[in-house]
Amino acid sequence: MKKVIVDMDGVMADVYHQLVQFEKRDSGREIEISGLAGIPEIEAFPNGKKHVNEVGFFRTLPVMEGSRAALEYINNKYELYIVSAGMEFPNCLREKFDWLAEHFPFISWEQIVLCGSKRVVHGDVMIDDYPKNLDHFAGEKLIFTQPHNKLIENENYQRVHSLEDVLSIL
Ligand SMILES: [Mg+2]
Repeated sequence: MKKVIVDMDGVMADVYHQLVQFEKRDSGREIEISGLAGIPEIEAFPNGKKHVNEVGFFRTLPVMEGSRAALEYINNKYELYIVSAGMEFPNCLREKFDWLAEHFPFISWEQIVLCGSKRVVHGDVMIDDYPKNLDHFAGEKLIFTQPHNKLIENENYQRVHSLEDVLSIL
């Protein structure tokens, strides 16, 4: 059975919308996501680093549109693993686990891998928004469109704009 590796932030969870909301709350500044193409996430949001370290940031992330139904389908047909590099922000580990339990209750604990580097990950298909994660993966690499990667053209990746897009590739 095909082993499908799916990233959380920027694929299942809409980090950009959360960062826009938090920025607006703290500074009143409204950042237009459409203007962020090609800009690294860390540079796009002046207070981003502070916000991702804030308690509740990961627990309250909006679910990426259409991702629940798509992942339920993938889960029924393939071997699905959710792989997230949670060690960068250790406080988020519990929040990520609780977030998954709330929004994706069909995913069991055995399918959740909260890790450091994703270099250790093997499988048939990886869906991620960061080239640094895809580049070390030996299987099929699907880059999930997010503003920071929008301008990247790389024939090693297949570009997807939603998890629904993935269904026609698997
Ligand atoms: Mg990601």
